Amino acid sequence: MASNPLQGAQFILAAHQISQLPEDSGAEVAFAGRSNAGKSSALNALTGQKALARTSKTPGRTQQMVAFDLPAGRAAAGPRRLIDLPGYGYAKVPEALRAHWRQEIDAYLNQRSSLRGVILIMDIRHPLKDFDRMMLDFCEATGLACHVLLTKADKLSRNQAGQALLSMRKSLQALRPEGFSAQVFSSSDMTGVDTAREVVMGWLNEPEAEPDQD
Ligand code: GDP
Repeated sequence: MASNPLQGAQFILAAHQISQLPEDSGAEVAFAGRSNAGKSSALNALTGQKALARTSKTPGRTQQMVAFDLPAGRAAAGPRRLIDLPGYGYAKVPEALRAHWRQEIDAYLNQRSSLRGVILIMDIRHPLKDFDRMMLDFCEATGLACHVLLTKADKLSRNQAGQALLSMRKSLQALRPEGFSAQVFSSSDMTGVDTAREVVMGWLNEPEAEPDQD
C-alpha cells in the first residue's frame, strides 16, 4: 500500500489570532467544522494518527487555531501545513468569542496567501448549519476552493448517504458551480479517507496561483 503523505504531520503551535500563526509561506490547507461535527476524528483519520487532534474536548473550552507541519514535499516548494480552525455552533460558546472567531476566520481566509483550500466537515445527518453556511459564504467571497466531508456516514444506510451527497452537491452548485465539491466520509469505518487525502495533497502540491513576477 502507498504510504500516507499526511502521516508525518506534527503539531507546531496553537494560535488565538492569525498574527500568531507560522510565517505565511509555502502551502497550507485549513480544516473547519461546527463543533462536534467530527473534525478532530477526520484529522486523525487523514493523518493516520490516533491523537493528532484531540477528540471530544470539553464543550465551551477556549478554542484555538492549531497548526501542523508536514514533511517537505518532493518539489521542495517550501513548508506545508494543515491548519485546524476553531469550530463552534454545537457547544455553547459566548457570543463575544464567536464574534472573535468569525472575524479571525474571515480575515484568515482573506489574507492568508499560502492557503490553498478549505476542508469543511459536516455531520452527514445535520449539514448546512449556520456555521457551515458562513464558511461557504466566506469561501465564495474570497474565491477559495472548498471540499465538504459529509462525515459519520456510517450512521446512515448507503442509500441515505448517497441522497445526502446529492443534496449537498446541489446546494454547493447553487452557491458556486466551480471550486466547491463534496464527498461522503467516515472516520469510524474509513469511508472516503483516501479520496479526501488526495484532495488535500492535490491542493498542497498545486503550484502557486500567482507567482511573483519581480
Ligand atoms: P469535533 O468537535 O468536530 O472535533 O468532533 P470529534 O471528532 O471530537 O467527534 C465528535 C463525536 O462524534 C465523537 O464522539 C466522535 O467519536 C464522533 N465521531 C466522529 N467522527 C465519526 C464518524 O465518522 N462516525 C461515527 N459514528 N462517529 C464519529
